[in-house]
Amino acid sequence: MSLFESRPVGPDTAARNYPELLRRYVLLLDLVRDLSSALHLSDLLERVALAATRLLECEGAAVLLLEPLSGDLHVEATTHPGLAVLRIREVPPDRSLAGMAIASGEPLVMGAEGITRAVESGPVPYELALLAPNVPSAFIGVPLEGKVQKIGVLEVFSRESQGFTPEDVAALQALAGQAAVAIESMRLFEQSDLITELVHEIRTPLTALETAAALLERSDLRETQRNSVLGTLRHEIQRLVELTDEYLDLARLESGRNRYQPERFQLGPLLSECAEIVTPLMHAQELRFVRQFEAEPLELFADRARIKQVVLNLLSNAVKYNQPNGLVLLRARRVSALSEGEAAQACIEVTDSGLGIAEDSMGHIFERFFRGQVGESRAPGSGLGLYIARHIVESHRGRIDVTSKLGEGTTFTICLPVAPLAGVRPAGAQRSILER
Ligand code: ADP
Repeated sequence: MSLFESRPVGPDTAARNYPELLRRYVLLLDLVRDLSSALHLSDLLERVALAATRLLECEGAAVLLLEPLSGDLHVEATTHPGLAVLRIREVPPDRSLAGMAIASGEPLVMGAEGITRAVESGPVPYELALLAPNVPSAFIGVPLEGKVQKIGVLEVFSRESQGFTPEDVAALQALAGQAAVAIESMRLFEQSDLITELVHEIRTPLTALETAAALLERSDLRETQRNSVLGTLRHEIQRLVELTDEYLDLARLESGRNRYQPERFQLGPLLSECAEIVTPLMHAQELRFVRQFEAEPLELFADRARIKQVVLNLLSNAVKYNQPNGLVLLRARRVSALSEGEAAQACIEVTDSGLGIAEDSMGHIFERFFRGQVGESRAPGSGLGLYIARHIVESHRGRIDVTSKLGEGTTFTICLPVAPLAGVRPAGAQRSILER
């Protein structure tokens, strides 16, 4: 007998539970209506997880999305207390319940017996291993199917001994069907949103280029005026190049087409390389550049080129938005783990004595295409650098933070988990997409 059984909903059971069924479908309608008021994808996925939990009155739910090209599964939203605490995102498709549901294209339904057997016979499916020793007593995983491709899986967990009924499976399938439609349209909406934003951003430099070209045609233009117009041309062209390069980088990162290439490396030499690259810029602006790295080596397991990209972005911002004769400070230190089982962190700080960031801009600084007043007036840029930096840092299970005081300066801090000692995995830490 197979470990996992798909149970069809029999007409007899449905007739017996008619009032309950009706109540369930009224609730389902309410929950589906609520999905349509989501403002963005992560909000929508949170609502789907919550809807599944309420619909089945169960311990918790999780929404996992499939990256189309890599085939990786990511937990994007969960109401399950165990999964939320672990903050695990990557789920291996080849040894998880979600992966099995995706592969079969059918709901995967497990009761207490099936779960016990799966745990005892091994290899233990990933979700059950994560939740051990509090393994659920019932599970359903329903594939989320889009019109053209598989989107992911909606999972629910219960600790009730009676487990899930066939009506539960049917109700969850109905919710999953609606959720899949909502996710697909939200993705299309967000894509066209990004393109609209890009076109909007491109219009400003294009208008400036058009005006500059018209000015250059005038025969009465003095030499100094011509040079100034040429300066504007170069500035706007640089802005267009930055915009398109960073937009393409962002599109690749967000679609999952650019996979991270993790390796073990020492942070010190990477920071020195970054420092070497920006030193000429510092000299050109007569900035003082101070480096403070702890003597203790800090080893990371990460995509070296991407981490370098983030550090260079912060350093070049510290130069761009600085004051004449200002200071840039690059620091790196180790921060011990806050609790047992967590990895120690390598924290990199980039501080400048520049113009600072206005308080009302602080909440928007990591948003795409955001350019503060300082940005607009100071230097060409795309407003995508910090957005991409946050994407990269968070994909490495890190954090990026900012503190700033207008007129005094700004500090950006990135904290990334240090690599575990070779052959040792910190308790509770899971293999991430980076390690596979
Ligand atoms: P860009 O520099 O291309 O505009 P970023 O995403 O790197 O894009 O930065 C977004 C905005 O944040 C900038 O336009 C600027 O207003 C502000 N900013 C970033 N770094 C600093 C800094 N070190 N000091 C002051 N403002 C900053």
